[in-house]
Amino acid sequence: MLYCIFDSMNETRTIIERISEYNERQADLKLNSEELGTLIVALKVAEEKSAMLHSIIESTDDAILSKDLNGIINSWNNSAERIFGYSAEEIIGKSILTLIPLHLHKEEPGIIEQIRKGIRVDHFETQRLRKDGTLVDVSLTISPMYNSAGEFIGISKIVRDLTLHRKAEVEGKRLMSIVESSDDAIISKDLDSIITSWNDSAVRIFGYQAEEMIGQSILKIIPPERHDEEPRILAQLSQGIRVEHFETERMKKDGSLIHVSLTISPIKDKSGKVIGLSKIARDITDKKLMDRKKDEFMAFVSHELKTPLTSLKSYIQIARQKLTNTEFIATALGRAETQTNKMERMISGFLNLSRSEEGLLKLLEEQFDIAQVINFCVNDAKMISQVHEITLNTPHQVWVNADKEKISMVITNLISNAVKYSPNGGKVVVSCEVFDKKCRIKVSDEGIGISKAHQVDMFKKFYRIESNETKNISGFGIGLYLSSTILALHQSELKLDSEIGKGSTFFFDLKLD
Ligand code: ADP
Repeated sequence: MLYCIFDSMNETRTIIERISEYNERQADLKLNSEELGTLIVALKVAEEKSAMLHSIIESTDDAILSKDLNGIINSWNNSAERIFGYSAEEIIGKSILTLIPLHLHKEEPGIIEQIRKGIRVDHFETQRLRKDGTLVDVSLTISPMYNSAGEFIGISKIVRDLTLHRKAEVEGKRLMSIVESSDDAIISKDLDSIITSWNDSAVRIFGYQAEEMIGQSILKIIPPERHDEEPRILAQLSQGIRVEHFETERMKKDGSLIHVSLTISPIKDKSGKVIGLSKIARDITDKKLMDRKKDEFMAFVSHELKTPLTSLKSYIQIARQKLTNTEFIATALGRAETQTNKMERMISGFLNLSRSEEGLLKLLEEQFDIAQVINFCVNDAKMISQVHEITLNTPHQVWVNADKEKISMVITNLISNAVKYSPNGGKVVVSCEVFDKKCRIKVSDEGIGISKAHQVDMFKKFYRIESNETKNISGFGIGLYLSSTILALHQSELKLDSEIGKGSTFFFDLKLD
């Protein structure tokens, strides 16, 4: 573009020179009206071109200056004043060397020589000197200037200040690395919904590589029934109306749907005109799943707490009616106590769950005999199930230092699972072995067993195995999660051996006191 300006400048100069030639010869010439008309039109065109060029030169961000063959500066635009700090009055008539750092002075004659020989000088990056003595990084474009006779009369220079450019480059790189390291998909598109950028997380979340998406319509990742979202958002943003972030669904390469939270912002050009949109998409599928599980959990909790409460209430009511039948009262009170214990365990489970979610689950360690605790848990379990043969295999006394209440919760939970997931009854063995300054607590059953695939996830919060065997067994999917959390606080780990259809053995170790 700048070469064009200089071509036009040369052309204008030629016209002006021809006009002045006419003027000089005017006295000797007798111009007819046609010649006079041509002369006036040429003059007008020259004036307009000159005014236009002047305004381009003065409004550009680059310094545009020219010098004669002796290196004396003879023109200087506004940006030259801004970049170098000299006004036109101060610098015109001075040597170009004023602007060149001393160590680069030797380059100047070579460049002039090259141009004189008609060899084009490609633009290059170098440094120049400001009025205040500081150096500025610049990019230079140098062109020869000729008069109407085609004689080489000087050199024009276009000087671009690279400081801002470099800053923008650094800033650009910084933003690029933020975009690339973000966990969210960051996508930009033009006003025709054509994707113009696609970061690494977009690849991870949607499964499409950047090459597959750049140049394609964004509709590729929008489920067909939601295609109307796109024009609505575009219309809103182009009217300058802010789009609040919202939750919606998008489609992955494999056709599956994911829940995303979208933040959409306009991309504007220098003049503030909206030229595209940027989208930040956060994958909230896991969060949605967790929310759904929590809702199910809450519904379940209310139901499960009501069941023992209703039965407690009826035992109390009947016991009141049959105050004289002491045998019945003894049975009723026994069952009422069992239900109360069950409810108590459930409530402390929920409390522990909410404590662990807030990171507030703490241990209250004390010395205790774990053999006695196991004994107590087994007796408790025997009250719940009559169809299982629950046996105990522990040494007389085993002293540990741990949180007694929480460890007893873990054991009770393992025994209750062993009973629950052996619907056809069978043996449940609870044992404690002592070796290597530690004791190993084991709970084995002859129940439905657990496949290897499920063994990976079953310690996760709310995880329940959904199968024909488990569909009629109630539970929250928090027992194993809480047990492993409690054991982790004791620097221990819940492990298991299991085989489908044969049974399971859950076990963990505690250090001896
Ligand atoms: P809940 O029993 O309340 O569902 P848990 O966290 O205690 O929750 O157990 C998670 C899942 O692991 C259960 O839903 C069940 O499918 C499986 N599971 C736990 N213990 C056993 C066991 N002894 N035998 C077979 N499956 C079990």
